[in-house]
This record gives sequence, structure tokens and C-alpha cells, in this order.
Amino acid sequence: MQGEIARRLPKAVLHDHLDGGLRVESMIELAASCGYNDLPSNDPTGLADAMHQGQSGSLTRYLASFSHTVAVMQTREAIERVAYECGIDHHEDGVVYAEVRFGPSLLTEGDLTREDAIEAVLTGINRASAKTGLQFGIIISALRQQTDSADVARAAARYCGHGVVGFDLAGSELGNPPEDHLPAIRLAREAGLGITLHAGEAAGPTSIASALGRGGAQRIGHGVRIIDDCVVEGDTITELGPLAARIRDYRIPLEVAPTSNIHTGMATDAASHPFGLLHRAGFNVSINTDNRLMSGVTMSSEMALVKDTFGLSIAELAAITVHTLEAGFGDWPTRHQLIEHAVKPAYAAAS
Ligand SMILES: [Zn+2]
Repeated sequence: MQGEIARRLPKAVLHDHLDGGLRVESMIELAASCGYNDLPSNDPTGLADAMHQGQSGSLTRYLASFSHTVAVMQTREAIERVAYECGIDHHEDGVVYAEVRFGPSLLTEGDLTREDAIEAVLTGINRASAKTGLQFGIIISALRQQTDSADVARAAARYCGHGVVGFDLAGSELGNPPEDHLPAIRLAREAGLGITLHAGEAAGPTSIASALGRGGAQRIGHGVRIIDDCVVEGDTITELGPLAARIRDYRIPLEVAPTSNIHTGMATDAASHPFGLLHRAGFNVSINTDNRLMSGVTMSSEMALVKDTFGLSIAELAAITVHTLEAGFGDWPTRHQLIEHAVKPAYAAAS
């Protein structure tokens, strides 16, 4: 699929990390203005190469590269700029609905509180939305390996209904189960936030079961290792384990980001990624960027990759996009409007 065609199609993204999608030019300018001297390169091409995690092979190594992006996001102005540019870049890539997530605790190394960081993100992305019409929701992430998740959830809850739509657990999945964060999840849920938890990215089905069970997740970030609960013969899933069946039958949305999964070692290449298997078996899979900078992707490039690798038709991409919007946590009339008046006509015209 040509990038230009993919870019023209209206797209929705549910899983995109703000601190994983900075423009390299902005990183260099922000580092200079805040006196951060540890960027791996001060040249845009060199920095893009250094930030690209194609060879990292593990989630832990992949996550280490975030130290550079969060280092330059420690002031209101810097955060606002990054959030604004995130909205503009998604819009220019043809994204009409974006749920963007970040961990506010990572942005408190300077003078900011978590609330300051959330407000700066909302200001920046609201400005991009007013300029472009992009619809968005912010998801607040707590880190599994940290102990402040309840404070993060409390901060997120204050902005529920004001741009913050969801709560997430990100970070090191192995050894840090959602059971360690039940007060946070409960707080977020009772405040009215949607719950999406990273699971089944580095760890297997047990982790996904925890996220759905005691974690109460409505969506799963990645979830691709649910394939380990399936019997695969050739290019078909022939049998589902009980957890896989529940995920398929309840239409639990899996926020899949194939390139990121390849970079963190879940699959060796696109052809061996389980997206196609899961899609054909009826799982509710969406296409996501995860980290545009570290993985060197856009929604268009990721959609084109999925289409070309798994032979999806435009009609199938339309259905995936509709299901993606249906799985969003933002207000329904807005999402419904996008489905009926943006997505359906555009994909019908393209097919
Ligand atoms: Zn993620």
C-alpha cells in the first residue's frame, strides 16, 4: 500500500506514547534550552538513528531510550510544545482521533507537579485540536515498577471529563503485576476513567488474565501474546484456550503495534507477527504506533505494513478503523460522527 493512500485515509490511534513521539528537531532545541547535554547526537539524522530502537530486542532496552525524551520535557513550555506537535503530526498523517498517553510522574524532575504536567499536555493538544480538528483523549500512565500509582490515578481523576479519558499501567511488565496497583486502578475506575493496561507484550497469557481479571481492564495494550493460548496450524488459529476465547468473544480490544512488538522482540519480523492470525480469527485488533520516534513509524506506515503483510482489503481496514473508534474512551457522539462522516465515506471511496 502506498504511503500516500494510507495517509489520506482517516485513521484512529488508541495507543501512542507522548514521550515516544517527539520530533528530533524539537528534542535538539529543547535540550539546548534546558541545558541537557546527554543527547546521543545533536544532528537530526544522527539523533533519529540513535533513538531508533530497531535492534533493541527487549522491552527493557527499548524503554531505556525514553530517558532522553523525558529529560527535555521538564517545563510547562516544553511539554506543551511536545503535545502540540504530537497533535499536528497525527493530523498531518491523516489521524482523526488520537488517544495519547504519558506518565506524569516522569515529568516532575524539575519544578512541576503531576497536575502541572497534565495541564501542560492538555493545553498543547487542545491548541493542536483547535487548529486542525483532531479529536483526542489523554490516557494517564502509571509505571508498573514504581510505587506511586495511586497518586498518579488521583491526579488523572481530577481531569476526567476535561480531556483525560483513561488510566494505564505501563513500564516493566515482567515481575510487576497489576495486583500491585489495585488501589490505583480502583480509584481511576471509580472516577469514571477507562482502564487500559499494557499486558501480553513482554509476558504471556497469565499477565493478560491478571489485567482483565483483578486489573479490570476494558482494553489491553498489545495483548499479542494471547497467541500462546491459541493453537495455530499454518496461517490459521484452529483452537482457542479459555482466555483467548473470552477475549475474542467479549470483543476485548487489543491495541496492537506490530513494529514496536518486533523491536521489543515479540516477533522477529512482520510476517511472523500474530496480527494477521488474530484478525482472521475474529479478535478485535486495532493498529497502533506505540512510539513513533523509537520505532520510526506513523499511523500511515503501520497501516500500510499491516495491509501489505497480511493482505488486508480496504474494507477490512475500514472495519478495523470503525472498531478502533468504537473502542475509544472519548465521548461517543464525537466518535460516532467520525465513523459515519469521515471513516465510512473515505474508505468506501478508496475501495
Ligand atoms: Zn505502549
